[in-house]
Amino acid sequence: MLTLKEAQAALLAGIVPAQAVEAVPLAQAAGRFVARALRAAVDNPAFDNSAMDGYALAVADLATQGFALPLAGEAGCGDAPAALAPGTAMRIFTGAPLPAGADAVVIQEDVKLHDGKVTIPRSVQPGQNIRRRAEDFGVGEILYEPGRRFTYYDIALLGAAGIAKVPVYARPRALVVATGNELVAPPTLLEPGQIYESNRLPTILQLQDLGAEVVDGGVARDDPAALRALLERSGDYDFVVTSGGASVGERDLVKQIFAEIGKIDFWKVKIKPGKPVAFGRVGDRTHFFALPGNPVSSLVTFKLFVEPALYAWHRSSWTLPEFPAIAANEFRRHAGRMEFLRARLYMENGRLMARALKGQGSHMLGPLRETNGFIKLDEDSTGFEEGATVTAVPLRLDIGA
Ligand code: AMP
Ligand code: MG
Repeated sequence: MLTLKEAQAALLAGIVPAQAVEAVPLAQAAGRFVARALRAAVDNPAFDNSAMDGYALAVADLATQGFALPLAGEAGCGDAPAALAPGTAMRIFTGAPLPAGADAVVIQEDVKLHDGKVTIPRSVQPGQNIRRRAEDFGVGEILYEPGRRFTYYDIALLGAAGIAKVPVYARPRALVVATGNELVAPPTLLEPGQIYESNRLPTILQLQDLGAEVVDGGVARDDPAALRALLERSGDYDFVVTSGGASVGERDLVKQIFAEIGKIDFWKVKIKPGKPVAFGRVGDRTHFFALPGNPVSSLVTFKLFVEPALYAWHRSSWTLPEFPAIAANEFRRHAGRMEFLRARLYMENGRLMARALKGQGSHMLGPLRETNGFIKLDEDSTGFEEGATVTAVPLRLDIGA
């Protein structure tokens, strides 16, 4: 059986990356992946300007003028001020262009004004309170390389760089299907043996969050003909993600059907939860993931396989964030598989703490309310004591309470 590392390497080797590129306005760029190197259209700052509200002057004038300069002129935002008259100070505001001849700005709080003269402190240094042209970035400079995923912060930078549209990879198309004869949806009341289906929507939403256009394939029964009919359309998608039917039971058909219509790169990984996960390809476009049906296994295998695959497809790199943390409680287990324990991460006395939540069964959803990360156990680990250093994997820390 492959280790997680081996399986993830096989996954990356099996990705057929995105080709199609489209230009989108900044309003639609957050979360998208850069497809071409992007260069700044302007210098930033575009011109030397004042960092503060105050007075622009030439430092060399101060000693000869006894540190009291007559006030002459004003530079406001959006102005193109005249040059500084020798031996004078000019009123200036934050962001206004520095007049030619000035080499320092003194903040207004530090000067005294009387009889049309400004008295300047003796501590003034050349360059003080000046933002230099292009000190942030220069025109033509490469701001982003392909594969970078835009955050909201990047939108700020792109706006300032004079970029109105960005070349990004066209969204991947994904199909999501849940399988199982036992699965129903409310308001249908449960008959004996039935359960409510809960994997499909989180899978769809996470794929959308990663930029995919998702088709909801609904719930398929464990019926070979019906399943085959559904999955035979896999070639129309970049990603097909199924839930359930991936293990060895004779009703677990998904993997068999994928093996018939495509090629399986790996099946079963030495992880807990999520061992019976399969990855492979159909044709030269489609990546399929047969995720296990247990709800927690579905979430963990999405994180460990589908998410890195989406990044790789966009020619982007992905890593699982890992931080050392102090175990808030003890946890014991048998060595064997790498394990991801649902955990609560929090700060205490300046240290990152990780509490293994009660109820680690892969069918147990209750602890998800508190889950904001995982504790990762290596294959040979037999657990940890309270106070031990463990590996914490944070999820979004700003969600949940
Ligand atoms: P399977 O992977 O099909 O063997 O399913 C493993 C376990 O997960 C079984 O208890 C299933 O009932 C359950 N299960 C499978 N698919 C889903 C689903 N979409 N939502 C909730 N539970 C599921
Ligand atoms: Mg099943």
